[in-house]
Order: sequence, then C-alpha cells, then structure tokens
Amino acid sequence: MNYLAGYAPQLLAQVQPLIDAGRLGDTLRQRYPEVHGVKSERALVDYVATLRREYLRSAPPLAKVAWDDRLHSVGNALGTHTTVSRVQGTQLKAKREIRIASLFKQTPAAFLRMIVVHELAHLKVREHDKAFYALCTHMEPAYHQLEFDLRLWLTAQEREGPRPAQPGFR
Ligand SMILES: [Zn+2]
Repeated sequence: MNYLAGYAPQLLAQVQPLIDAGRLGDTLRQRYPEVHGVKSERALVDYVATLRREYLRSAPPLAKVAWDDRLHSVGNALGTHTTVSRVQGTQLKAKREIRIASLFKQTPAAFLRMIVVHELAHLKVREHDKAFYALCTHMEPAYHQLEFDLRLWLTAQEREGPRPAQPGFR
C-alpha cells in the first residue's frame, strides 16, 4: 500500500535513504518518544470529548466513538466519520459516529491526536478542502507534519514489521 502518494518527489527523496536502510521506524520512534494510554473504548471516548470541548463546542453531538479493528485492512481508511440517518417516530435523526482504527492504540501520542483532529474536523467540514485543513491546523498547528509522519510510520510498519511505539513499554 502506498501511503505516500501525492507528496512531492523532493520530499520523498529525503526519506528514501531511511526507508532503504530499514531505519524509518526507529527514526520516528526517536522523533516521537511520547506514547499514550488511550487503549480502552472509554479512554477513547474521553479523549475525543476533551478535544471536542476545547475546539468544537458548537459542532453537532456525537452518537458514538469507537475503536475499529477492521479499519485500515479495508482500503486506506484510518478513521471514519459517518452520519447515519434514522427515522425516529416522525423525525429524521442524524447520528454522527467517529471510528478510529485500532492500530492507533500503538502509535505515538501525536498520531492519535492527529487522526482524532481529522475526524473531529469532519463534524464541521465534509470535504478535504481548504476550510477543512484550516480547521485541522487550528486544532493542531503541526497537523500537516503529523499527517506526513504518520504516513511514514505506516510505511515503516509495513516494511519493517509492526512494532509498538516503545517496545517493552505497555
Ligand atoms: Zn477525512
């Protein structure tokens, strides 16, 4: 799977030596030493709620927040936001859900923050347009760097084998 499609060749040329040397994963683990303790569903719900309270008070309420084991194996999705419309009595109610790929339980803390910021931003902006990324960088100023580094992380996991953020630390 190519996680790096769409990035400038010059940018990719800078990281290619690390990929070739099998050192991409170690380099990222050094750059992002901070792990996180968000492992349970409850912890994820709280984590999302905290970010949401800080930045998106006016966004529509979330019906569900969950880890998802199947994400990522199906295509390129790392998180999803869905609006399920259901008829309740005579009303059409929209229920918004955020699902985060379970692989983020094992990533550095910064990458979990990045994907949650991404999915939260979709509560307000549906498309990946300018307004969307403006909202992402408002919530997390390093958003673009983090997304690139997350893609490098996934590339490393695929090539060098899956390893937690800090081996031996749970
Ligand atoms: Zn998106």
